[in-house]
Amino acid sequence: MVSTEIRGDGPALLRAIEARLPELRLLTDAVDREAHRRDETAYLPAGLPLAVAVPEDTAQVVELVRLCGKHDVPIVPRGAGTGLSGGSAGIEGALTIAFTRMNRVLEIDHENLTVTTQPGVVNADLKAAVAAEGLFYAPDPASYETCTIGGNLGTNAGGLCCVKYGVTRDAVLGLEVVMADATVVRLGGKNVKDVAGYGLIPLLVGSQGTLGLMTEATLRVRPTPPPRATMLAFFPTLETAGGAVAGLTRSGLGPVTLELMDQFTIRAVDDVHRLGLDRDAAAMLLVESDLPGDAGRVELEGAEPVCTAAGATLVIRAADPQEAEWLREGRRLAFRALEHLGVARMEDIGVPRGRIPAMLRAIEAIAQRHGLPVGTFGHAGDGNLHPTFILSRDDEDRSIVRLEAARQDLYQAALALGGTVTGEHGIGAARRDWLVRQRGEAAVDVMRAIKHALDPRDLLNPGRVLA
Ligand SMILES: Cc1cc2nc3c(=O)[nH]c(=O)nc-3n(C[C@H](O)[C@H](O)[C@H](O)COP(=O)(O)OP(=O)(O)OC[C@H]3O[C@@H](n4cnc5c(N)ncnc54)[C@H](O)[C@@H]3O)c2cc1C
Repeated sequence: MVSTEIRGDGPALLRAIEARLPELRLLTDAVDREAHRRDETAYLPAGLPLAVAVPEDTAQVVELVRLCGKHDVPIVPRGAGTGLSGGSAGIEGALTIAFTRMNRVLEIDHENLTVTTQPGVVNADLKAAVAAEGLFYAPDPASYETCTIGGNLGTNAGGLCCVKYGVTRDAVLGLEVVMADATVVRLGGKNVKDVAGYGLIPLLVGSQGTLGLMTEATLRVRPTPPPRATMLAFFPTLETAGGAVAGLTRSGLGPVTLELMDQFTIRAVDDVHRLGLDRDAAAMLLVESDLPGDAGRVELEGAEPVCTAAGATLVIRAADPQEAEWLREGRRLAFRALEHLGVARMEDIGVPRGRIPAMLRAIEAIAQRHGLPVGTFGHAGDGNLHPTFILSRDDEDRSIVRLEAARQDLYQAALALGGTVTGEHGIGAARRDWLVRQRGEAAVDVMRAIKHALDPRDLLNPGRVLA
């Protein structure tokens, strides 16, 4: 159940915002508020925001936080709302601060290989801006054409090439953050090495808007890598595909992409995009190299025998960059393709990479036990899988009961294998019950102490991450 209890003096807050920030875009219309009620977790209960503030600069954010504190109205930070854990979903009577108009790339620094940006810039736009200057920003969530850098920082987003270049946190050198008491702190900058004091950047990145509002970020970029060499390997069983992932990890090769799709997903993608995939294969791996010149081909030549030894029945190379892009796009659109089949509920478990075969076996068994179709795809090179359960549109209520039971078993199985209940989407509002079970009471107490120290009045995204 979502709380309908409203905290603070909302009407007084709105009057104060209008008086202090007359230039600010403030959405109070019922339709706009409703549009900001949910992120991509439409199935989770969510509250109706009091209003949606759309600031254009840090000074406006500071004033909003100050006024919310004064009137005791909680704040929900929001990027594009593509999140999959309910992190930016509305809280009844709270102020949602949407960063979508803080969408300027501020500086591209070739000498230091950094880009400094506001949080509302869409990931794909940031990539395009640096690419125009011969540079590459690596983190690439499959939602990169819509999600924002602020949301990526909020969730510590991963993506398809994180197996080689790391997740969002690994790209962050500097942050500007508005804290819960409306002070502005600047953390880090352009130093590649900097160990002065506690590491606050890794703490804030991934905190899902519960510890501070990020208003600027300085991110690592690198020279644009050469076009990728792309290979597909098809397997007769899920387990042999999992074995190939474990083998590739052991081999020490460094592919830039190592993604998996199971048969259910292959068929869904092929039905929608007609890529000519092997629909009889139980699983497929997409393996790519971005090493320069011949080295890319050589890396794939090293990967091929690993796949064959694991049991691959067919290995093919993309004929040209266009075909490679179609295949990559097919993988990125896996979730949307599965949505054609019913109500798709994407999960996000992670396991140590050597445990992928066992996790894939467990997913199959869980789906069978609960009588739910499942398509599994994901960032296999990172051990991060997205089993996506398909609920019947005609019988959603009964499917949901089965789904809840399946989710419990899924999380239990991931933890039993030394894994995590969420690899990149976050605890948010969706998985709070499992935080203590994964981390233990003592570790969650440390998290509570940090939250209390930085936000003693529980103003920022209350009830997310920590129950
Ligand atoms: C089809 C699809 C594919 C996806 N693929 C991936 C994937 O490959 N990898 C992956 O990691 N995720 C993926 N996601 C999930 C989602 O896109 C990411 O979590 C993304 O980072 C969210 O960005 P957003 O701008 O939509 O943020 P939102 O959903 O609006 O917010 C996400 C979180 O960040 C917080 N936040 C937003 N802005 C700020 C800020 N300025 N300061 C502080 N906190 C802030 C919010 O409070 C919330 O907790 C996918 C989603 C979909 C629908």
